[in-house]
Amino acid sequence: MTQHHVIADIDLGKLSKNVETLKQQVNGAALMAVVKANAYGHGLIQSAQAAKRGGADWLATALLSESIELRDAGVSGPILCWLNTPDDEFAQCVAKDIDLGVNSVETLNSISAAAKTVGKTARVHVKVDTGLGRNGVTLNDLPDLISALKSAQNQGNVNVVGVMSHFAYADEPSNSTIGEQISNFKIAVDALTDANFELAVKHLSNSAATLGLPHTYYNLVRPGVAIYGISPGPEVGEAPQHGLQPVMRLRAPIVLLKRVPAGTGVSYAHQYHTTTETTLALIPAGYADGIPRSASNKGPIQISGKRFKVAGRVCMDQFVVDIGDTEAKLGDYAVLFGDPADGEPGLNEWAQAADTINYEIVTRIGPRVHRNYLNG
Ligand SMILES: *Cc1c(COP(=O)(O)O)cnc(C)c1O
Repeated sequence: MTQHHVIADIDLGKLSKNVETLKQQVNGAALMAVVKANAYGHGLIQSAQAAKRGGADWLATALLSESIELRDAGVSGPILCWLNTPDDEFAQCVAKDIDLGVNSVETLNSISAAAKTVGKTARVHVKVDTGLGRNGVTLNDLPDLISALKSAQNQGNVNVVGVMSHFAYADEPSNSTIGEQISNFKIAVDALTDANFELAVKHLSNSAATLGLPHTYYNLVRPGVAIYGISPGPEVGEAPQHGLQPVMRLRAPIVLLKRVPAGTGVSYAHQYHTTTETTLALIPAGYADGIPRSASNKGPIQISGKRFKVAGRVCMDQFVVDIGDTEAKLGDYAVLFGDPADGEPGLNEWAQAADTINYEIVTRIGPRVHRNYLNG
């Protein structure tokens, strides 16, 4: 075996295709591919490049370090980074032409100071809280931020190029907060326009809105999870209904097979006992790799084309599968999730087994897992 036991096959061709498919559905709006959190576990640089090959006009990250990593890898074109704090070191970002989300006067001051040091104008997108109640400036605090933006722009330190906000309930297309957030967004857009800022981009649509709320596209959409072929939620529909294909497939080899009698306790605290004489397969993947421990006794596994479940506890580095009398040999791969269209367990089944959402499973796939890039 190689050093890495667990393999995530990442089909970059499918990622490009998903971006292409989404772009065809957004009535001419530009597309910003969200590649935060190591591209939702898929690998930052390779995924960003694949998204661009598929026609992504922009890239976006949460953290400055992620945007800088993109630039340092030679990725060109517009990049936005939005989870910014007053303590962040913005100088490098301004120097590397990374657009910045601004959510407060304090963050703006820090960005302005950095721009001054670098001798460049920082491009900023005003991040407004239109009702999510998380990041972003409230409509109440917006006038103060606008005054500060005006003076920073007059001094040549910043250029306000965009406005953005984020939905609380985009995955429930008929939720009443959606309309309220759209009206609040309009109030923010009008206030910024009245202050004479030329807003080149206005963006509000995450994946769920991109797939289900065409009236929220403005001139730029900002999907993350959908570009990886993952549905943002059941009400929005399954990924294949939107022509999207899962990009990641997670597999690990069988490293030990043993025949055991009925009544054998399996893994820590014997949360599983064999009911007959049977074969146990050891899979070297555990919660340190991002396999949720909460999926103990539940997580679906495919071996030799047949469906099983994790037997007993998921441990730090390994778990066991009771494969009965199924034929399998050492080195055969157990598939945790892949493409349900090919009969493999789906990511959503794992999310359900672990009582979480599909986003959490992929973003937690850890650094010990080898990303095997295909069709790059
Ligand atoms: C993560 C994030 C997105 C992308 O969300 P998805 O649901 O993955 O499409 C878009 N905008 C903001 C502000 C985010 O934090």
